[in-house]
Amino acid sequence: MTQTTSPLDAEPVPDLGRLRAGFSGEILTPADGERYDDARTVFNAMFDRRPAVIARATCDGDVVAALLFAQSARLPIAIRAGGHSVAGYSAIDGGVLLDLRPMKQIQVDPLARRARVGPGVTWGELDRATQEHGLATTGGRMTTTGVAGFVLGSGSGWLERLHGFACDNLASARVITADGRILTANETENPDLFWGLRGGGGNFGVVTEFELRLHPVGPTIYGGMLIHPRERASEVLRFFRDFMHSAPREVAGGAILMTAPPAPFVPPELRGQQAVSVLAAYFGDSGEGAEVLAPLRAFGDPPVDLVGPMPYLDLQAITDAGNPPGRRNYWTSDLLTGLPDEAIAALVERANAATSPASVTIVAPYGGAVAEVPEDAVPIGGRSAPWFYHCYGIWTDRDDERHIGWVKATTAALRPWARSGMALNFFSDVDRDRVRSAFGDGKYRRLVALKDRYDPDNVFRMNQNVRPSSMRLDHGRLH
Ligand SMILES: Cc1cc2nc3c(=O)[nH]c(=O)nc-3n(C[C@H](O)[C@H](O)[C@H](O)COP(=O)(O)OP(=O)(O)OC[C@H]3O[C@@H](n4cnc5c(N)ncnc54)[C@H](O)[C@@H]3O)c2cc1C
Repeated sequence: MTQTTSPLDAEPVPDLGRLRAGFSGEILTPADGERYDDARTVFNAMFDRRPAVIARATCDGDVVAALLFAQSARLPIAIRAGGHSVAGYSAIDGGVLLDLRPMKQIQVDPLARRARVGPGVTWGELDRATQEHGLATTGGRMTTTGVAGFVLGSGSGWLERLHGFACDNLASARVITADGRILTANETENPDLFWGLRGGGGNFGVVTEFELRLHPVGPTIYGGMLIHPRERASEVLRFFRDFMHSAPREVAGGAILMTAPPAPFVPPELRGQQAVSVLAAYFGDSGEGAEVLAPLRAFGDPPVDLVGPMPYLDLQAITDAGNPPGRRNYWTSDLLTGLPDEAIAALVERANAATSPASVTIVAPYGGAVAEVPEDAVPIGGRSAPWFYHCYGIWTDRDDERHIGWVKATTAALRPWARSGMALNFFSDVDRDRVRSAFGDGKYRRLVALKDRYDPDNVFRMNQNVRPSSMRLDHGRLH
């Protein structure tokens, strides 16, 4: 293939004539300076990658053109929607970055309680559109996260105990395969593909429309955050655990080992200090919510109590400030077989040893609707797990090894209570063994069969990769 050289970076760029001919969106190369840099920047600052070309798709035709161009030019391709992959899958060096952000269509049908959503939409945007009708579906706990990667990776959010994971609410999808076919996937059309899309990630094609089921939620819900000093973490976690064991499914919650923000609502002596917060919400009548959540508010006389009636949209944004885009992130996570006092002690001890004040550990319950969906209904299982934790290393200096070491040591400390099956979207390191164990052998084989059928050449490999059986691949490179 012809290669030309960008005047700015002296990097080889592919001959783009063929792509330009069939592409209506913007095409960027290193020669485009700031626009190129803006378009290649992803949430996790650990991935400062430089694609050869960024194709900013505006329609299905653009997606087909970019896919066919990348393959004919023998360039690897990465898919970018919200850009929040903590593992850096939406960043690529030297290949084609297919940027779906311009595809921002949202159509809400309040009567049918469905939303048709383009792949460039974020959870903040979708929640705003559905809340105009008092509707919502299980969505990200941060507003900037993309709907697309989230749903395809299963999607865990505050509404899950009431309405299941985001992927449980996927009714239909439009999918473009590597060879440019446009398919519908739902319970009746291409049901095998539909199964794989609900947790199997971006392995099978580019989804250009998600049809999601909506439910009546808000617009005002009852909930908010309580913050206690870290010295009380063990007793707060134990109380929260016992409270959640008998809480109805309308209650969502999580305990967060964090640093108290320097906010006016935090007493001066707690600002910037290690703390533990309990985030709780009741999706139902506010009066009932006040009654149900009263014991959480009463326990331990928390110095910060922000619980009360609040817009659902504010709940969805409540943790945004804790991890803005542009920091360095390394994450792990696991399902837990239970949350005995010993596991709580390990969580608190590891959180106390955090190497960065921005890092957080979250422990939260499943149960309710999560546990009711049959284990084989979608690729990601582990639904009977009562608890899970996330450990997020977040920092701004360059001491990556130290901060990553803290995250890994936390995972090791919690191993006695860990079980496999956690959704892969919560991991920075995803090797083949992790992919297989997340799904389990039987479902992994089913995913490989789907990969063989829909992407036998592994064009879509910048993801939690399911390798087609015909290829031997290592770390995303053909050999
Ligand atoms: C700040 C933050 C908060 C988060 N909160 C939550 C949370 O509350 N719950 C939860 O479950 N997860 C959460 N996540 C994880 C999140 O679900 C994943 O990182 C997800 O991949 C993000 O989707 P995206 O569209 O933003 O990602 P991108 O980085 O744009 O995409 C990641 C990968 O997904 C695939 N993909 C994306 N779009 C498509 C498409 N249209 N077609 C085919 N493949 C596609 C591709 O392989 C792509 O490389 C969070 C992540 C961050 C960084």
